[in-house]
Amino acid sequence: MPTIFSRIISGEIPCYKIAEDENYFAFLDINPLAKGHTLVIPKQETDYIFDLDDHTLSGMMVFAKKVALAIEKCVPCKRIGIAVIGLEVPHAHIHLVPLQSVHDINFTNPKLQLSKEEMDALAKQIAAQA
Ligand code: 5GP
Repeated sequence: MPTIFSRIISGEIPCYKIAEDENYFAFLDINPLAKGHTLVIPKQETDYIFDLDDHTLSGMMVFAKKVALAIEKCVPCKRIGIAVIGLEVPHAHIHLVPLQSVHDINFTNPKLQLSKEEMDALAKQIAAQA
């Protein structure tokens, strides 16, 4: 059975899409730690990020860089933090989280409640820069 992220890539499940190429996909995290919190995933369905082959893993980081620079243009922050957790969804992903301080990337923090309209506008704004 495909992962929830593969179902997002295929369009079966909606998302706030940021960017896509042949091998990678980026979209807003539905439960963001900060405005602009984005997930970057490989289209290849692999659970653990360190099981990806070197080429896919390094390409994912280059793709994430492009997305992070786009987020920075749209969301006031000191920089974009990256994290890999992977305990919830068994499809490798990198979290990109706009940071004002180290506390912003604490995954035990309460998640932001943004409206559909806010998420949609944010995704469109970031996508236009990616
Ligand atoms: P992790 O696997 O890194 O522990 O957490 C998975 C992340 O994916 C969480 O931050 C969660 O909010 C996000 N997530 C889980 N399901 C969905 C979904 O259906 N759509 C989106 N956009 N994000 C999701």
